[in-house]
Amino acid sequence: MVMSVLTISSTREQMLESLTYRRTYNGETIAPMDTDAVAERISEKRSPTSSIGELQILPLELLYLLFELSDLQAPVHLRLTCRRARMLVDASPSYRCLRIHTPHVICILLRVGIASHFTVSYIAELLHSDSRCSRCGRFGSFLYIPECVRCCYSCMRFHRSTVPMTKADSMAAFGLTARTIATLPVMTTVPGTYGGGLRAERSRPIQLLSPALARAAAELQHGGKEYLVAYIEGKGTQAKRKYDKRVTSRLALLALNPPEYDQDGNLAGPDWDDVKRYMAAMPFPYLDPSLGDIHDGMSCKGCRHALDNCSSSSRAEIYHRVYRAYTVDGFFEHYVVCKEAQHLWKSLGDL
Ligand SMILES: [Zn+2]
Ligand SMILES: [Zn+2]
Repeated sequence: MVMSVLTISSTREQMLESLTYRRTYNGETIAPMDTDAVAERISEKRSPTSSIGELQILPLELLYLLFELSDLQAPVHLRLTCRRARMLVDASPSYRCLRIHTPHVICILLRVGIASHFTVSYIAELLHSDSRCSRCGRFGSFLYIPECVRCCYSCMRFHRSTVPMTKADSMAAFGLTARTIATLPVMTTVPGTYGGGLRAERSRPIQLLSPALARAAAELQHGGKEYLVAYIEGKGTQAKRKYDKRVTSRLALLALNPPEYDQDGNLAGPDWDDVKRYMAAMPFPYLDPSLGDIHDGMSCKGCRHALDNCSSSSRAEIYHRVYRAYTVDGFFEHYVVCKEAQHLWKSLGDL
């Protein structure tokens, strides 16, 4: 018998309801609620009474193009000048998309001070054109702020390249000058309590940046890779010698105590679960362009059940599965290979 489209659709709905759940990440990364006051200002509505001066002569299409190609800070500042400017900026397609679906992203990028490094169109594209994690290619429901790229929860917590550097460390490690640093997105952290298993309180803001971007800028500044390597291998300044000593002792400690998963699925080890990871990330949903739906991902109940029966040797792999989030299509692809989800669905049918 051929199943009707309606039956298939309702079965999919039932499967999603029975086999998935939404993970909460309260207090782990920069929280949208930190920015409520700014979000309110962004959504303020009043009628325009003034003009936008010489910009008024441009056709609407050109104005919208200008806003799209501007860095995120420019239209936000422009819209604060008068109500007419606010109305125009708010009506431009890419900014509108960000303001409606992810006002917290605008607020946080402004607040941490890197909104001037990324254009409105780049961030809007990131929201709806590609849901993949920049590190592993799976669904990424977080933004790694220092590079303004998507990343998944696992990569945010455990990937080597998502531990941001402090500005002082990047200057010591790569010999970056203040002029080079000024060209890079350096974020100022928001004080608060962060981390999964860490729950670390950070009351003073610090400045963080991506080690990969810092290294790439240092290559340019030193005049090529070989000159940068010569700098890294040399003794350098006192700050560099201190930095090198700290890194060497940390690597030695890690070699002696390789990180292991504890009972709560946290990687325990010296400095492994670095709180800077959480301070440099925020939730970043995916806007499905065909349906207009916004997704922050769903997790698999089957994988969570698998934790109850797993051996200690497979614990690491199972934890990574439990941390994973999926889009609707992504979940059904996962279902095909997830024996526990299939078993759970079958057992529900037998009830
Ligand atoms: Zn990933
Ligand atoms: Zn599963």
